Amino acid sequence: MSWREEIREIVKGEVKFDEPMSRHTSFNIGGPADCLVIPQDIEDLKGIILFSKKRRLPLKVMGQGTNLLVRDRGIRGIVVRLGKGFEGVKFFENDLLAGAAVRLSVLIKMAASKGLGGLEFTVGIPGSLGGAIATNAGTEAFSVSQRLESIRVMTGEGKVKDLKANHLNFGYRRCHLEENSIILNAKLRLERMKEDEILKRMNAFLDRRERTQPLGTANAGCIFKNPDPKTPAGSLIQETGFKGKRIGGASVSKVHANFILNLGRARAEDVLTLMKIIKEEVKGKTGIDLEPEIETWGED
Ligand SMILES: Cc1cc2nc3c(=O)[nH]c(=O)nc-3n(C[C@H](O)[C@H](O)[C@H](O)COP(=O)(O)OP(=O)(O)OC[C@H]3O[C@@H](n4cnc5c(N)ncnc54)[C@H](O)[C@@H]3O)c2cc1C
Repeated sequence: MSWREEIREIVKGEVKFDEPMSRHTSFNIGGPADCLVIPQDIEDLKGIILFSKKRRLPLKVMGQGTNLLVRDRGIRGIVVRLGKGFEGVKFFENDLLAGAAVRLSVLIKMAASKGLGGLEFTVGIPGSLGGAIATNAGTEAFSVSQRLESIRVMTGEGKVKDLKANHLNFGYRRCHLEENSIILNAKLRLERMKEDEILKRMNAFLDRRERTQPLGTANAGCIFKNPDPKTPAGSLIQETGFKGKRIGGASVSKVHANFILNLGRARAEDVLTLMKIIKEEVKGKTGIDLEPEIETWGED
């Protein structure tokens, strides 16, 4: 039996072959994944992990695809996207336990309605809780790890493990997860607050975002990391005069120079070429090596 036939037999959730990743990324860019799987539950996920090991197929996990650039030739092997089976949320006095697939935007509002605040700074960060932990998402002042108590993961061997936040070696947009570990859920420590107060704080964060970031055109957020808190990558790129610079269907945003927009038909190649030119120009002018914040996946 071919691996494609076999995987269809073992997975209870959805299985899609040669699935265009442009349908699963906020950039709306990306060639086909050999196989995209949306497991129904933890058992299903375990089956997929063990299958990929047995068949020696590479496996990647994604959340909402808001920090990803997938190359035009697509991804070989299996991409796991966590879905409904991993979206449950439970509330306690000052904590919550949430599935990795829940969207941050949903979680923040659910917490506010229970009088639990402390996640407002994430308002406007798209993506799932699992993705936010894996990338330690946040703003200049706060990051998700500061609210994290522990996570539950499934290892590359299909074993479930609980890990304390302080064992994850978090840094700026970085989390140290054992290779091939998949976050299943997370416990967050929040603060009791009045719902009105939480909503007010959310609106303030949202206002700022709406003033400073492009809205309405497909993108993947900031392309490069800030070299340090006082030197935003956006300012360095702006100084090169690249705001509005276009290659194929991709363009540097005129609102925020660290955003690249897909004007409609951008290819990953267009974005990668823009990134290369920006990096070279910034390096030439300032000596600073910009590092990508987005992850590039797929075949060269
Ligand atoms: C308009 C816009 C604004 C943004 N603003 C911000 C911002 O202010 N701050 C910020 O930090 N980011 C920002 N981002 C980037 C992005 O939203 C975050 O990095 C987000 O947390 C990624 O979540 P995701 O579910 O989309 O993850 P994905 O993009 O799907 O994946 C990102 C990484 O997380 C890993 N991952 C995902 N789920 C799991 C899991 N369950 N277990 C293990 N690993 C997992 C993936 O393997 C991958 O390595 C922005 C993006 C956009 C489009």
